[in-house]
Amino acid sequence: MSTATDTSVLAARFQEVFGAAPDGVWQAPGRVNLIGEHTDYNEGFVLPFAIDKTAKVALRVRDDSTVRMLSTFGGHGLVEAELNGLEPGSGQGWSRYPLGVAWALKDRDVNVPGFDLLLDSDVPLGAGLSSSHAIECAVISALNELTGAGLAAEELVLATQRAENVFVGAPTGIMDQSASLRGAKGQAVFLDCRDQHVELVPFDAEASGLVLLVIDTKVSHSHADGGYASRRASCELGAEILGVKALRDVGVERLEEASGLLDETTLRRVRHVVTENDRVLQTVEILGTQGPASIGALLDASHVSMRDDFEISCPELDLAVDTSRSAGAIGARMTGGGFGGSAIALTPVGQEQQVRDAVVRSFAEAGFTAPDIFTVTPAAGARRLA
Ligand code: ADP
Ligand code: MG
Repeated sequence: MSTATDTSVLAARFQEVFGAAPDGVWQAPGRVNLIGEHTDYNEGFVLPFAIDKTAKVALRVRDDSTVRMLSTFGGHGLVEAELNGLEPGSGQGWSRYPLGVAWALKDRDVNVPGFDLLLDSDVPLGAGLSSSHAIECAVISALNELTGAGLAAEELVLATQRAENVFVGAPTGIMDQSASLRGAKGQAVFLDCRDQHVELVPFDAEASGLVLLVIDTKVSHSHADGGYASRRASCELGAEILGVKALRDVGVERLEEASGLLDETTLRRVRHVVTENDRVLQTVEILGTQGPASIGALLDASHVSMRDDFEISCPELDLAVDTSRSAGAIGARMTGGGFGGSAIALTPVGQEQQVRDAVVRSFAEAGFTAPDIFTVTPAAGARRLA
């Protein structure tokens, strides 16, 4: 189905449900992180891209302060909420994401009216592809335009972060929404998490005869909270002992000195962040000079660092990575926060089926749940469709 058909079908469905045409239809993508994991809250570098899987929202503003929301995703009924008196922690399930951005905009003195909203997303949930930010970015793009607030992308990024951190209560950084809001077709988003500086870096795997496979292990990363908090704490401790504002300020040349100052575990956590930042910079450089076919070793090194130093992988992710590599991928790593979610495998087109088959087989042999395997390409960031 073409996007145009999707859009008019969604608008027609909106009309059926809410009895009037939407004011417009907006779309925002999920994202995959090519490299740069757990560097965001260390004020470092990340290199995600917006993917060709998106959340679409048809939205119509109301003349009261009621919000009515429906998702085409199975099992969710119509949700109704009241914008006045919204407080962090209110709302349930997916409705917290649209309500969260409405709250965050109101908190910035944007006059947000009630609205009717129909959501249709094909970003897989909980796979580490940021289905939640896809929703938030689509909704905030719509509200930013319909309220006339006209906030710049950098401000939308921060408002979305407040929605997740304060309203929903998820301790996330700025990578996901930056990729979703600022991504572009054929480009990766090289983001400096200290100052939100963005450079778009061409990532055209297809032209190099490659595909980027995503292997969703189906292992839920929802129990990762404790692990995430403890990793953050280790990073803060390391920065404090090394006398810097954030680990971003530590270069690889200081690692030897650090080994004399930090306890064994903190050293390994710090070493991951410091080397990962360096790998992001190297990846950007290599993409510019040699192209995607030359970044395989950096992806591999990133995975080893997350597995051994940061300890955020899991048996399913390691199996996905190791199997992809032995079946022909030129580089592979877990992506996202860890403890589950997805791995990525940069694979020559001719090897794709072999990698898919080998991973499916190895999961069956290990007694793991069958993974979902699909390709992603760098796609446009959030935009209005109709
Ligand atoms: P991730 O963002 O990594 O996919 P999260 O746990 O942050 O994982 O967000 C997943 C949540 O987003 C789901 O539990 C659900 O509440 C919501 N969600 C995502 N897509 C949809 C959808 N199409 N319909 C309804 N809710 C959705
Ligand atoms: Mg999320």
